[in-house]
Amino acid sequence: MATQEAPRAGVSFETDEETSLILSSLEEFLEREVEPLEDDLGETWSNPRKRHEVDGRLVPEVREAIETVRKRSAEAGFYAMNLPEEVGGEGVSNVTWYRAIKHVAATGPGLSEYVLAGPEGPKPLLAQAEGKQVERYLEPCVRGEKSTAFAQTEPGVGSDSPNMSTTAERDGDEWVLNGHKQWITNAPYADFVQVFARTSPVEEMGRYGGITCFVVEADEHEVASLNNAVGMTGMQGEIVLDDVRLSDDRVLGTEDGAFYDAMEFLSLGRLEIGARALGHTEFLIDRGVDYATEREAFGRPIGKFQGVSHKLARARADAFAADAAALRLAWLMDDGEQAIEESSIVKYLATNVMFDVADDVVQIYGGDGLSEDNPFMEELETARILRIVEGTDEIQLNTIAKELGVM
Ligand SMILES: Cc1cc2nc3c(=O)[nH]c(=O)nc-3n(C[C@H](O)[C@H](O)[C@H](O)COP(=O)(O)OP(=O)(O)OC[C@H]3O[C@@H](n4cnc5c(N)ncnc54)[C@H](O)[C@@H]3O)c2cc1C
Repeated sequence: MATQEAPRAGVSFETDEETSLILSSLEEFLEREVEPLEDDLGETWSNPRKRHEVDGRLVPEVREAIETVRKRSAEAGFYAMNLPEEVGGEGVSNVTWYRAIKHVAATGPGLSEYVLAGPEGPKPLLAQAEGKQVERYLEPCVRGEKSTAFAQTEPGVGSDSPNMSTTAERDGDEWVLNGHKQWITNAPYADFVQVFARTSPVEEMGRYGGITCFVVEADEHEVASLNNAVGMTGMQGEIVLDDVRLSDDRVLGTEDGAFYDAMEFLSLGRLEIGARALGHTEFLIDRGVDYATEREAFGRPIGKFQGVSHKLARARADAFAADAAALRLAWLMDDGEQAIEESSIVKYLATNVMFDVADDVVQIYGGDGLSEDNPFMEELETARILRIVEGTDEIQLNTIAKELGVM
């Protein structure tokens, strides 16, 4: 039977020329700008115990190095390249942003984590800045000169964040904020925090309505203490808001509509976590393969034992599938879809793949897997954290179950 060429479907997994260029420029940037900073820090960087003060705060040299990475990355056009050009970004697609984050994460743990804007950097919510907010908050953040934090979680609520207790009440021309936030990434160092507070009661505005986002500057709130997560010591803190008085120009985005604003960008946060998890997974698989081929036991490389080789083969299969899912999510988002279900699938899959692979690579390295001189336990801890932040495993599964119509 004569074969006719089938019409091409509109899906491509090719890395386009622009993205390839970005990825290779990122590699050069890491080599030229980031690695020397790590070398200069020496043991202060390589030994996690030396990175922190007694209370867990990062030591000043490390903070300075992080700021330098941020600023140089912004100067080179990488830091917030996914934001629109109008606000100082490069307007790259979600597919390119996903590939860039994954590519950088594939170099393993290090100062490289600060090359592309994370929770401390400008996100689409901040890009809603208007008037004086643009010059004072958004632009310096895009240039890597100021850092921020995003504060929803409280001692009483995490997954159930619309049920927050922090309030902002009108008093004449001003807002008065009271409340307590915890687990806020970059809170100890942020120049300003984007704080979510209830401004209208649930009875009037509904569960997701009546929440407003305010910009609170560092000297207007207290960082009560640090929440030192194992594997991420010194990065999270508690924020206390005690009669903080703010004018209207501190409202970021829509009054009473911050939760809906944030939901618009939910998928991006989950794609970013997925990219990070899958980049680290690639790093872990590479290191696992190296060791499986070098290390010998019972007269042969340990990779010749099925107990070891199947761990790596399974890792590769799981990573391949999760990467395809993440690319599809990024592609849907580029097509203007909110892709809530797909973003939950990707966040759940990618972080669980990283977790399983990190655990297997610790096992493959045996005693050396547990050594502080190797990064594998640090990777395992990071994977554990990624399964909780930006919506826990269970919250992602709830979203998928709701889409299936069973919840
Ligand atoms: C390292 C780190 C960084 C963080 N950074 C930030 C930040 O920058 N900004 C910020 O606002 N927050 C941040 N958080 C907080 C994080 O978002 C919350 O920890 C997370 O959303 C879970 O909330 P929770 O800890 O209060 O747990 P809870 O919501 O109390 O949940 C406890 C357990 O119950 C389960 N559970 C809850 N509800 C359901 C349900 N409906 N169905 C099934 N299971 C359920 C959860 O999955 C979990 O296993 C950070 C946390 C950590 C650890």
